[in-house]
Amino acid sequence: MISVAIDGPSGAGKSSLARRLAADLGYTYVDTGAMYRAIGLYTRRAGQNTKDAAAVEALLPRIHLDIRLQDGEQHILLNGEDVTRAVRAEDIGMAASDVSAHPAVRAFLLDTQRDLAASRNVLMDGRDIGTVVLPNATVKIYLTATPEARAARRRAELVAKGQDADFDTVLADIRQRDYQDTHRAVAPLRQAEDAVLVDTSDIGIEESFARLKQVVLSRI
Ligand code: C5P
Repeated sequence: MISVAIDGPSGAGKSSLARRLAADLGYTYVDTGAMYRAIGLYTRRAGQNTKDAAAVEALLPRIHLDIRLQDGEQHILLNGEDVTRAVRAEDIGMAASDVSAHPAVRAFLLDTQRDLAASRNVLMDGRDIGTVVLPNATVKIYLTATPEARAARRRAELVAKGQDADFDTVLADIRQRDYQDTHRAVAPLRQAEDAVLVDTSDIGIEESFARLKQVVLSRI
């Protein structure tokens, strides 16, 4: 089985590039962020504090996640409800970042993620795929961009969706998430030693895509 691990901070263009590249290669795209987002969503709905490790851990036995792969697209079901769209809400990103710091949450998702890669060619995106989830991945890529470049893109996306977005607020959110993701004790975001670095700060989406594809094709 071939596995491509793409890690990096939020807003580097990972999910849109990864989804497109997976379709191009005919691999299954696995979005691990959506799994953490679903747990963040459940915790919020339960009225619990996403930063409280014990409170979140106590909820885990009540959470059943199903990952359905339809036409290479991942759908995520939270206790039977399709939350694929609901988990994309802006505030759920931070909730996901909070819950993802708890070791019990990471352990809860690890087998699901590994199982998905065991029986099919996958392109999996996340924060710890190359370092923890699939340490033997065929290809590892660390996709990044400066916080300012990522904030500018994120803001443009929000504006395009008709939402009001102030650059400084978006940038502060990105910086806070970067800090949380790189400083947590378990599986912090970092570049695997054998990962290829792709920095998209100064290149557009088409060039980023071409570069990613070239990295993968040269290694499989
Ligand atoms: O990639 P996305 O923005 O959907 O991820 C949401 C949050 O989930 C991230 O900020 C990160 O804290 C967490 N995450 C993680 N490990 C992964 C994927 C996501 O900790 N493999």
